[in-house]
Amino acid sequence: MSADGIVGEFLALKSETDADLLAMQCGDFYEFFAEDAEFVGDELDLKVSEKSSHGSTYPMAGVPVDDLTPYLKALVERGYRVAVADQYETEDGHAREITRVVTPGTLLETTDPAAQFLATITRVDGRYGLALADVTTGEFLVTTATAESDVVAECHRFDPVEVVPGPTVDADLLDQIREGTDATVTDHDDSAFAPGRAERTLREQFGEAALDSVGLDDRAGVAAAGALLTYVEETGVGVLDAMTRLRAYDTDDHLNLDATTQRNLELTETMHGGSDGSLLGTIDHTVTSAGRRRLREWLTRPSRNRAVIDRRLDSVAAFTEAALARDRVREILDDAYDLERLAARATSGSADASDLLAVRETLALLPALAEAIEDSRLADSPLADIVADPDREAAASLRAELDEALAEDPPGTVTEGGLIRRGYDAELDDLLDRYESAQEWLDNLAGREKERTGITHLQVDRNKTDGYYIQVGKSETGAVPDDYREIKTLKNSRRYTTEELDDREREVLRLEEARGELEYDLFTELRERVAAHADLLQAVGRTLATVDALASLATHAASQDWCRPAVVEPGPLVVEAGRHPVVETTTDFVPNDVDLREDRGFLLVTGPNMSGKSTYMRQAALIVLLAQAGSFVPARSATVGVVDGIYTRVGALDELAGGRSTFMVEMSELSNILHSATEDSLVVLDEVGRGTATYDGISIAWATTEYIHNEIGCKCLFATHYHELTALADHLPRVENVHVAVAGDGDDEDITFLRTIEDGPTDRSYGVHVADLAGVPSPVVDRSRDVLDRLREDRAIEARGAESGGETKQAVFDLSSGGFREGSEAEPTESDGGELDPATESVLDELEGTSVAETSPVDLMARVREWQERLEEGEK
Ligand code: ADP
Repeated sequence: MSADGIVGEFLALKSETDADLLAMQCGDFYEFFAEDAEFVGDELDLKVSEKSSHGSTYPMAGVPVDDLTPYLKALVERGYRVAVADQYETEDGHAREITRVVTPGTLLETTDPAAQFLATITRVDGRYGLALADVTTGEFLVTTATAESDVVAECHRFDPVEVVPGPTVDADLLDQIREGTDATVTDHDDSAFAPGRAERTLREQFGEAALDSVGLDDRAGVAAAGALLTYVEETGVGVLDAMTRLRAYDTDDHLNLDATTQRNLELTETMHGGSDGSLLGTIDHTVTSAGRRRLREWLTRPSRNRAVIDRRLDSVAAFTEAALARDRVREILDDAYDLERLAARATSGSADASDLLAVRETLALLPALAEAIEDSRLADSPLADIVADPDREAAASLRAELDEALAEDPPGTVTEGGLIRRGYDAELDDLLDRYESAQEWLDNLAGREKERTGITHLQVDRNKTDGYYIQVGKSETGAVPDDYREIKTLKNSRRYTTEELDDREREVLRLEEARGELEYDLFTELRERVAAHADLLQAVGRTLATVDALASLATHAASQDWCRPAVVEPGPLVVEAGRHPVVETTTDFVPNDVDLREDRGFLLVTGPNMSGKSTYMRQAALIVLLAQAGSFVPARSATVGVVDGIYTRVGALDELAGGRSTFMVEMSELSNILHSATEDSLVVLDEVGRGTATYDGISIAWATTEYIHNEIGCKCLFATHYHELTALADHLPRVENVHVAVAGDGDDEDITFLRTIEDGPTDRSYGVHVADLAGVPSPVVDRSRDVLDRLREDRAIEARGAESGGETKQAVFDLSSGGFREGSEAEPTESDGGELDPATESVLDELEGTSVAETSPVDLMARVREWQERLEEGEK
């Protein structure tokens, strides 16, 4: 074929696919041409040469056929989708066709042990459907949601590598998903999302009965799940058979953790990136990658279901009490391979002999594991049910079959021969017998010939060009018999062959080939039988992963002296001597109590900067999260009322690089929380309103406290440096003050932070004091004190109690005196000098009428700015 033809064919195939790049097989190489060649040349440092045709030249870059995988993997992990066109023989030569499109979400060759989710999202009848699958393990999930934010939060939890949106999904939603993940967004054939077609696809995959049991009556879920199957099928990855079950789950089964909270609590990654120092990084003692995936799943998706939580806690408790059995279990698991992934490899036909051996060895662990549990103190725990779950008989018989079939130490490639054990297949045994006897004849040939001819320097050998030959030293060539036919002369010797040797050689080659083919066929059959047991392998894999994750939780609990939380529903959060699970591993941690209950569900936490407020609040949130994940918790004792979600706004995360100001981010996070939290949630606020001028800041913090207290009524921890807010506790019944204890006189230079939390407000604001401690020159510190006093001029804010149910509490906080006044309206009082000027009055009216929850942050900012201007005007 001419060069033009090849490049032309490449460009034609490229136009058939929506993949970013095309690798086309040309004999022993996969080639990239034209722009694609330049691109991979840059990305992968591949040598780019020139292919000329008809006076034009095209860039060309290629990789040997057997080396494609690592290049594919590198491209796909960078987010590109690569089509692969294979060459096949036809009657008149050969042709090429695209056989696979490798995409981030369908990359089977990954070596990263973390889960690799592909997501499809669609919207039908106003509901979102979200399907998620990990093709490397066959895991397949689907859920539906009404709120966009739920879809975003779910995506951030699963952290998919590729998202395929349906035609009804708007760009804004995708942008939000991209903010918290590195997902590649792939546009795909919209018709796959049509509910009718999607339903047919699901029926074909799972059958009628299976579908009914999933109860997918939600068309959005059906559309997303069906489209996902179509996409996986169309990429040609060949793992559909490993997707043995579809699990429909309800987002309400799990604790709501919005994207910000997942980041703030550093569940799987720290703020600086990387898993070291994250919660998962700290408590993970799993010994298998599947176990780590399971633990990650529990931490990012803690349960809301007390039965589920208690069952996990029972297992962890059993493991903590039976240290010897736990060690034994972990030792067994240490030898386990990733069965779920092996099942997917068997299904796609990419598993080699060592993969099947890995299946065999891992299946062999199941009886040992069951014994370690059933014969120990763990026998009465739910762990016994967990190991009884997979079909152990089926596992044993599959293992026996693999034992019988596979050689003890098979070669790395499936075409090399030596894969299959003797005694497994009569035909193969016969071939091997004949091969061995031919080999024996060859081995003994030199001896026989030496004897027959009397030649001493005679040897029999084999090489690629000459095949088998008899080599005779130069000095003795005169003695060679007539039946020797010379084939080559070397410096010191000559090579010969004989008719019989030629015959034997042909026989050996024939037998070698036949053996290779037969072994390969036997191996593929075996691999298919393993693939047919994908669901069994997945069940065993899940069991091993679950036991590993539970043993890991127990290991950490035992080493850090954690306690079993009493999980109640609904109920308070009462923690005695609690610690922060990560900080306690690196510092001498001072334990603290948390007491959030009916009559004190809202704690205002005050104390100087760096005294430990945010650590205290995160610690409370993490204790709830760990308990609902089924883990013991860092405390002497803990009672944890199940919450439906944890919402946090912590620290000033600088997102200026993202084009949004810090204050803007702060306000939009606040707005999300106020919209999403319910009475059963836990809200953690670390400073609100800090990113703006004091008076706007206080106003927003103030209104937020009232709104959470009066309207939402959830458990809340709110750290603030606005010392003024502490007075709210006297007027809002569920608000209680706590503060971080400080030793020493505030004016003394050597005050120390005791890190203990005590009831009551902090007695003063320490901002200026901290400036002093930090060595800010004393004229500046002194002047700050003056300015602070001046700022506390006659400004007043009204506190509003709940309007429904009971008496309306009204109070006016006077910034000048730092005290509260009771009153039904924000009436002028004596300290105001009798009367408010009209500008102030109108600003206060508008402030009162502004709903923080219903006003966008931008409007809020604009309004506050406008109020400030009007107030300044009014003062003149
Ligand atoms: P704040 O929110 O008040 O500014 P942080 O919570 O950030 O303070 O804590 C400041 C420092 O004190 C951190 O380095 C933290 O590790 C440490 N710290 C906080 N709480 C404790 C504690 N209970 N025991 C020991 N060290 C603590």
